[in-house]
Amino acid sequence: MKSRWVEAEAAEIVARGAEAGIARDLALRIYSTRLLGADPKLVLHGGGNTSLKTRARDLLGNEIEVLRIKASGADMATIEAEGLPAVRLAPLRDLRALEAIADEKLLAIERANLIDPPAPNPSVEVMLHAFLPHKFVDHTHASAVLSIIDQPDGEKKCADVFGGRLAFVPYLMPGFGLAKKAIEIFERAQPSDGLILSKHGIVTSGESAREAYEHMIAMVSLAEGFITRNSEPRLLVTVWREPEPIAAVAPIIRGACSQKDEKIEGAWRRLVLDFRGGPMVLSALQSDLACLAEGGVVTPDHTIRTKNWPLVLPHADAGKLDGFAHATREAVGAFVGRYRDYFARHNKHAGGAKQELDPLPRVALVPGLGLFGLGRTKRDAAIAADIAEEWMAVVGDAERIGRFESISEADMFDCEYWPLEQAKLGARNEPPLAGQIVAVTGGAGAIGGATAKAFATAGAEVALLDLNLAAALEQAKTIGGSPLAIACDVTDGGSVRAAFAQIAEHFGGVDIVVSNAGAAWQGRIGEVDEDILRKSFELNFYGHQRVAQAAIKIMRAQGTGGCLLFNASKQAVNPGPNFGPYGIPKAALLALMRQYALDYGAEGIRANAVNADRIRSGLLTEEMIASRAKARGLSEKDYMSGNLLGREVAAEDVAQAFLHQALALKTTADVTTVDGGNIAAAMR
Ligand SMILES: [Zn+2]
Repeated sequence: MKSRWVEAEAAEIVARGAEAGIARDLALRIYSTRLLGADPKLVLHGGGNTSLKTRARDLLGNEIEVLRIKASGADMATIEAEGLPAVRLAPLRDLRALEAIADEKLLAIERANLIDPPAPNPSVEVMLHAFLPHKFVDHTHASAVLSIIDQPDGEKKCADVFGGRLAFVPYLMPGFGLAKKAIEIFERAQPSDGLILSKHGIVTSGESAREAYEHMIAMVSLAEGFITRNSEPRLLVTVWREPEPIAAVAPIIRGACSQKDEKIEGAWRRLVLDFRGGPMVLSALQSDLACLAEGGVVTPDHTIRTKNWPLVLPHADAGKLDGFAHATREAVGAFVGRYRDYFARHNKHAGGAKQELDPLPRVALVPGLGLFGLGRTKRDAAIAADIAEEWMAVVGDAERIGRFESISEADMFDCEYWPLEQAKLGARNEPPLAGQIVAVTGGAGAIGGATAKAFATAGAEVALLDLNLAAALEQAKTIGGSPLAIACDVTDGGSVRAAFAQIAEHFGGVDIVVSNAGAAWQGRIGEVDEDILRKSFELNFYGHQRVAQAAIKIMRAQGTGGCLLFNASKQAVNPGPNFGPYGIPKAALLALMRQYALDYGAEGIRANAVNADRIRSGLLTEEMIASRAKARGLSEKDYMSGNLLGREVAAEDVAQAFLHQALALKTTADVTTVDGGNIAAAMR
């Protein structure tokens, strides 16, 4: 591992910090924290932490000694000064006199000693940093170090690799007890570079930011060199069996990993998927599968993201999806059973006070294909996948130089159910559509965009499909979360199938479809050219049918119901003169919606439509509004609000109607009218 320290960069961050009133030592603390955080071989997603002992003024203006410590769960790669809250150092150090202290009490003491009262909670490893003497302390979960210490003879291997430069601290759960043990060993051994925390990670320290950082790089380099020198070559026998594509496999896994909501009939608790393939993952699935299947985290805090062992599935052989689906459901059932046993067993030892987390896997392994991370959001799924990839690499290297050995199951339970670790996940007051995936066609338009935004706000993962990819990408930027923009021509069956395959590959499946793409054609029906009528049917009827058919296929593979929502139009109910080419396919669309409701209701798939009118959009442009208002002798405002309520209807109002239909689990074959009131267009 190469040092990424660049003096010119360090000087620049110090200069910029000075302008913002940030002292030199803190600026350099920020710089090297970011260097460590930017390398996934050192630190992943909130793991690892750094600190600085310095002087600061408290709120009364008194200068005191403080520990600036990374906030719990903060991302080191992008850390700012606020991500390193300052805690009075002296009271923390006084705690060393105690034998033990309850977590809640320790946290209360830490919070009471924050210089800035609303600052975030200090890292769970704050006491380790407080007790160590050096000004700068760096702690990472470096992959190469983990491969060496996650071994039955980890202590001996450490002595071989690091000599006396790092002192060895036997495994203890992170927290106060570990901090006390670590400082005792540190003072006795007086190591030059820092500490190894067995089966957990490495700590280096120094009087300057650069010194602590370079110690870290030097130690990780020693570990890497040892692995390279001592690895036995892999003997791989490649038996090539063609797998089913990710898009076909993912919905099966996603469906099997969904749980019926016990309280609300028809509701499911779903997860989002994130796929990883590539040579490293594939070869690990081949050569280390038995060891990976055993599970065991490579460092304790991974348990909150990946659980302690993965879901192991069979090879998804091409043409044998039914068998794969059956095996997947059985494997998930066994996983859930094992997790519940694990919880019950260890909760009993813990006094029965813990609350069981959901028992579903967070990592799924499919030999010959790759791995899936699972999470309540796309972001959580990607974090699980990132950690799983690194876990595989660490386990693989550990097996190459000896035998991988994790902490005990009881230790994993203590970490998984440690309130301070759970706090890293944040308070979860989940939005109503958390875990659900929605596809919106015509996603770049006014109604499509407003609908995508409304669903994203309600917690869904969103795919925006549009003929115009550039416009869909622009629209995606205005929506929260991490939406996926896809080029899709709904008049082309191949394009629709490819778009839905992309959604399934990216998110793992689909639960809600808002089939919204459309365009208006006019002509007096007795005289209109047949080509125009056919064109309109292609888009305004068959377009919806293609989209619904592609979605149904994925929904049925998931087996957790679903929801099809169609943008009908006032024309479907109340035809306008010379609007036949538009209104007739829209009337057929209403029949299509009802047919889906009828044919798939028994599988929990609902179908509804929105009948909206007079919305500013691509179908009703500003020029059209101006000319129509003029033709009727009305102001534009009066024209747009010419309805029973006298209120203009906006794209956002239509979006809310779609959202309502998605949430109304007992409603199917419904048409919701959003037109401000028009008796002639009322449903009868
Ligand atoms: Zn740690």
